[in-house]
Amino acid sequence: MNALVKRKSERGLWLEQVPVPKIGPTEVLIRVDRTGICGTDLHIYNWDRWAQQTIPVPMVVGHEFVGEIIEVGSMVSDFHAGHIVSGEGHVVCGHCRNCMAGRRHLCAETKGIGVNRPGAFAEYIALPQTNVWLHEHGLGRDTKSIFDPLGNAVHTALSFDVLGEDVLITGAGPIGCMACAVVKHAGARYIIVTDVNEYRLELAQKMGATCTVNPKHESLDDIREKLNMREGFDVGLEMSGNPNAFRQMLAQMCHGGKIAMLGIPSEDISIDWNQVVFNMITIKGIYGREMYETWYKMTVMIQSGLDISPVITHRFDYTNFEKGFEVMNTGQCGKVILYWNQ
Ligand code: NAD
Ligand code: ZN
Repeated sequence: MNALVKRKSERGLWLEQVPVPKIGPTEVLIRVDRTGICGTDLHIYNWDRWAQQTIPVPMVVGHEFVGEIIEVGSMVSDFHAGHIVSGEGHVVCGHCRNCMAGRRHLCAETKGIGVNRPGAFAEYIALPQTNVWLHEHGLGRDTKSIFDPLGNAVHTALSFDVLGEDVLITGAGPIGCMACAVVKHAGARYIIVTDVNEYRLELAQKMGATCTVNPKHESLDDIREKLNMREGFDVGLEMSGNPNAFRQMLAQMCHGGKIAMLGIPSEDISIDWNQVVFNMITIKGIYGREMYETWYKMTVMIQSGLDISPVITHRFDYTNFEKGFEVMNTGQCGKVILYWNQ
C-alpha cells in the first residue's frame, strides 16, 4: 500500500510502498478515506527538535482520519466491515489505575498513532478495537476526518462552564477556531480571539468570534472597554503555546477565572504568579480527548447544529501532500485535508 513515511532523519516525508498492516484478534483494519494534517505532522515533516527526540525512524505518520472498516479480528464483535469510523489517536495501556477507573485520557503510558506506532497517512491502518469510534450517519465526511483535533477543541472548550460567560481564546489555529465555534454553540456571551496572523483572525470571525484582536496592533483592554466588560474574562482557552499570549491571558482574567491550556509551549514561560494567587485563577492542562465522552459530545453538538466545516480551507490528493505541508508552513490556512480514496 502507499503511505507517507518518515524514512530519514531529515526534513520531509516520503510516499512509499509499505506492507498492509496485519491485524490481531482484537484489532480492525480500516481503509483510509480522508486525513487531516495536524500541527504535530508539520513538526515531524519539518523535523524540529521535538520530532527528532520523539519519532523513531522509519514511521508511517498521521493520526487524523476517517475510513471504512474492511476486516475485523476474530474477537471483535462490535464492529463490522462497512462501518465508517475514525480512530482515537491515543492508545492507552488499559490496566493502570486511571485506565481501570475509566479515566483513560489520564493514562501515563499513552502511545500516539503516527508518533509511537504506525499512523493513518496510508491506504490502510490497523487499530485496536478500543480505539475505534463508529460515526453516526449524516455528518459530513470531511468533518469526520478531523474529529481528533475537533476533540482537542471540545475537550478544552467544555472543561469549564461557558454558558453566559465571556471567553478569551489565544491562538486562532484550526483548534482555536473550532473552539470558538464550540463555545458559541455552548452558549458563551462574548468570544474574543487573539492571533498575530490576519488570515486566521478572519477565519475565527467566520467561526463565530464576537471580535478578534491582533495583539501587535490592538489591545485587549480597548476591546473590553468597548464591550463594557469590567471584570475580565471568565474562561480562557490557551491555544497558541505562545508565552506572550499566555501572559496576556493571565492579565485579562476575572478574579476566580478559569484557564484551560491546550497550547504546547515551545519554550519556558515565566508568569507573574501573584496574578494566579491573588486573582485565584484555576489553570487546567489539557491533553488529547476524554475517551469517549468528548467523542460523544462532538457528535451530538454537530447533530444539534455545530458547524465546523469553514475551518477546512484546503483539500489535496495524498499524492500532492507536499503542497499540503507547504501551505501549512505558510500559516495561510485553516485545516488541510488529504484525500486517499477517490
Ligand atoms: P497552530 O500552530 O496552527 O495555531 C497556533 C496559533 O497561535 C497560530 O495561528 C499562531 O499564529 C498563533 N499565535 C502565535 N503567537 C501568538 C500570540 N502572541 N498571540 C495569539 N496567538 C498567537 O496550532 P493548532 O493546530 O491550532 O493547535 C493549537 C495549539 O495546541 C498548538 O500549540 C498545538 O501544539 C497544541 N496542541 C495540543 C494538543 C494537546 O493534546 N495538548 C493537541 C493538539 C495540539
Ligand atoms: Zn493506562
